[in-house]
Amino acid sequence: MPENEQFLEVYLREIGVQTPVSLFASTHAADQPVAALAQPPAAVVEDAPAVSVSDADQASVITSEVSVALADISGGLAELAIKASTCRLCGLSDTRTQVVFGVGNPNADLVFIGEAPGREEDARGEPFVGPAGQLLDRMLAAIGMDRNQVYIMNTIKCRPPNNRDPKADEVQACNLWFEQQLDLLQPKMICLLGRVAAQTVLGTDAPLGSLRERWHDYHGIPVWVTYHPAYLLRSPSQKQKSWQDLQAVVAGFQKLN
Ligand code: SF4
Repeated sequence: MPENEQFLEVYLREIGVQTPVSLFASTHAADQPVAALAQPPAAVVEDAPAVSVSDADQASVITSEVSVALADISGGLAELAIKASTCRLCGLSDTRTQVVFGVGNPNADLVFIGEAPGREEDARGEPFVGPAGQLLDRMLAAIGMDRNQVYIMNTIKCRPPNNRDPKADEVQACNLWFEQQLDLLQPKMICLLGRVAAQTVLGTDAPLGSLRERWHDYHGIPVWVTYHPAYLLRSPSQKQKSWQDLQAVVAGFQKLN
């Protein structure tokens, strides 16, 4: 059985879906009016400030310090990742192992965004690795996708000590990279993973529960909110809701294509 089908079977079993459900069947949430979906994707940042990095500096950072994710990105994104790899705009640069920029297809229409790197991400330089990353892989497989078809990133690029929530000044500082990254990606849709990412990107203190099951807008890009895979590992009873969210993402995504 192909690896993707194995992932799908395992994921559906984990979330308690015994009979595969058509990914493209309408769901209650997916049938909601989606005003944002009618809007064309807009550029996220205008006149984003450039960070000047000399050729010598760039050469010096294309070493082991540069995220392994660089191997998977190209063009403007790769250049931006190189600049970010030496960033010291906030205090997290003192405790990080390396900047974790992002991974996946630079031309992806669908971007998944989490909150911040954890211990394994910090060590390996790639977002969503370890058990939570493996669950995300299974979630992607369940909607017929893999990491090569989407782009995966975090709101901030360095690991907060002990995996605490990012502080407001850290989020504000890292917005420099976040906005330029999305501006280069120009996705058709964003899926936010977890409360912190949702609150950060949408600029709200609302609880995750009130942000699910409806469309949001980020600079003209339709946004859906669901649970972080790490939370699903701690609270497996929520996987059924996560599955509903993924179906809504697929249904919304089809409306755009
Ligand atoms: S979290 Fe962002 S702003 Fe802070 S040091 Fe890392 S890359 Fe720079």
